[in-house]
Amino acid sequence: MVNAEFIRMLENAGIPDADFDMKCIIEQVTGNRFASEISPEQKNQILAMIQRRIKGEPLQYILGEWEFYGMRLFVGKGVLIPRPDTEILVDTVLQWCKGKSGLKILDLCTGSGCIALALKKYLPDVKISAVDTSETALSYAKKNAEYHHLEIDFYHADVLDKHFAGQFHDYDIIVSNPPYLTGQEMQELQIEVKHEPAIALLGGSAKDGTYFYRKITSLWKDAIKCGGLLAYEIGWKQAQCVSELLNANAFRRIQTIQDYEQRDRVVTGEKI
Ligand code: GLN
Repeated sequence: MVNAEFIRMLENAGIPDADFDMKCIIEQVTGNRFASEISPEQKNQILAMIQRRIKGEPLQYILGEWEFYGMRLFVGKGVLIPRPDTEILVDTVLQWCKGKSGLKILDLCTGSGCIALALKKYLPDVKISAVDTSETALSYAKKNAEYHHLEIDFYHADVLDKHFAGQFHDYDIIVSNPPYLTGQEMQELQIEVKHEPAIALLGGSAKDGTYFYRKITSLWKDAIKCGGLLAYEIGWKQAQCVSELLNANAFRRIQTIQDYEQRDRVVTGEKI
């Protein structure tokens, strides 16, 4: 069987989950993950995708899309692939929004737009703005917003730009999944993650990867209303540091939420 041959090619190259990857690739090319009739042209397309996978490229870039919060999102080189961990951040914000309406939300370091889009989908009456410094990432975010017919105001800007931050006021929520990996973690990345943009991963020069939390918290806290929420995705060792940072910046009711692997993944606080 042809499919078994394809799977063996991936297995021989040491690709874990070869069976799953192959089903996704076959579905992408033929429209059917169990297809047994494959044309010569489709076979060539599949072989080209297998070659990319063997070189360590993430499956998500090869497919050109991935699912986040039940939504199809387009991804590719230059944009961070949405992770299931980030769904915890979306859940947390949605929970906080229960019973409230007409909220203004700002998503900093939006990347593919995954957080902003999921929030807008489930809270249609909110006004959402989203910021990213990468033009490539923003082009994916805009394409994703168009595909899902969701209205988001996108800004191409650096979230560390004090002047830019100073133009934003009266937000009920700021949400962000900023880059937060340490230099050490960057050295130990899986080969797939090395294909993703370092700018979306490396948490600045601080040894503990917390540079963006420090800068964002101080530069953007005045954009949040009193009683408003600041919600961060964090690296699993950063909860204490980020909680202390929020406390020192006049946030209270600080909470840490864990991910599917019971690791600290989200920190939130309300502005007093
Ligand atoms: N969670 C991502 C990873 O593990 C990191 C994302 C980020 O830095 N915001 O690779």
